[in-house]
Amino acid sequence: KKVFMATFVKDLLDNVKAGIENDVTIKSEVVNLPKTVTTDPDLLYQILENLLSNAVKYSKDGKEVDFKLSMENNRLVATVSDKGIGIPKAEQGKLFDRFFRGGNVGIVEGTGLGLSIVKKCIEVLEGEISFESEAGKGTTFQVSVPVS
Ligand code: ATP
Ligand code: MG
Repeated sequence: KKVFMATFVKDLLDNVKAGIENDVTIKSEVVNLPKTVTTDPDLLYQILENLLSNAVKYSKDGKEVDFKLSMENNRLVATVSDKGIGIPKAEQGKLFDRFFRGGNVGIVEGTGLGLSIVKKCIEVLEGEISFESEAGKGTTFQVSVPVS
């Protein structure tokens, strides 16, 4: 499907921002995006919505989440970076498992399904996902998806 990037990004950010329940702000940056790309917008939306809402809900009040979307070599590249609770090294291998929830999430609610859905969507789109995280410091996810 042909996806209008400006509309897609605006809808995504509006929806995520409307769901924020703490005092965290999202700073977004788009770099050399084409007007339209051809991909599955629903899968792309699932991926980015889950990563952004995780970054927000696992951050403490007053912090900022950075979102960057760019086009590099016919791939959409998204980076979602937070200064939140982080993911302990011992848990990083289980992150994409269904129903996995970290031991440090406290009262933050969730089902533990978000990232398993993200992984499935990435597979269908033949994209890639990686992350770096340090407990107590924050987390950065990067995804890239080939588009035409
Ligand atoms: P759901 O997304 O289904 O509402 P969830 O957020 O707990 O629930 P996932 O999105 O799959 O589930 O994330 C799994 C676990 O990974 C989380 O419970 C949390 O421990 C950890 N996690 C995910 N993203 C982050 C992040 N940005 N910072 C810190 N921990 C994270
Ligand atoms: Mg989640």
